[in-house]
Amino acid sequence: MKPVQNIYCVGRNYVKHAKELNNEIPSSPLMFSKPTHALAEANGGEIVLPGDRGSVHYEAEFVIRLRQPYEEGMSVEDVVDSMALGIDFTLRDVQDQLRKKGQPWLLSKGFPNSAVITPFLPFDGEAACQNQDFSLLRNEERVQIGNIRDMIFDLHTLIAYTATHLGAGEGDIIFTGTPEGVGPVAHGDHYTLLCGTNPLGNCTIKLQ
Ligand code: ZN
Repeated sequence: MKPVQNIYCVGRNYVKHAKELNNEIPSSPLMFSKPTHALAEANGGEIVLPGDRGSVHYEAEFVIRLRQPYEEGMSVEDVVDSMALGIDFTLRDVQDQLRKKGQPWLLSKGFPNSAVITPFLPFDGEAACQNQDFSLLRNEERVQIGNIRDMIFDLHTLIAYTATHLGAGEGDIIFTGTPEGVGPVAHGDHYTLLCGTNPLGNCTIKLQ
């Protein structure tokens, strides 16, 4: 398996999250990407995030990694090699300013360490993943819980749409969007990502 290639992300893929930020429900997947410098592992260590550019929000997300290019007619299981959970860290004040100006989100979404992921696990199929909620603990308190069955655009739609419009191949990963409950990060926060009751990774935040 190649190391991570493209980091694709999906915005507003859960109705309740779109509403909590007063955004419209999209009629097609709202895609963006992050540089590979954004990658960081939730391996129990410290994650350094910007502390001087307004609020940083956590967004817990289900992440898939592709094993091969998507071709029409393929199933999710044909294309997805493994899964992880991730946090799409977002400079929310910067994003609000960029949105007002009609500018791309990159500066609010693409900073170093903004794409935190747990180690990848073999993908057991979409149905198995729908049987377990994923959740985020902030300082041992659950702040987000979601299930991929509640996504507006399902895994197959996201993969096919990405392949058509951006290209999709081995080593590409997709952050599939966050459920409701996003909020601001404080210096020293500890985050744990769980699949069901199984912790997949954790990290501590250093704002600087
Ligand atoms: Zn997100």
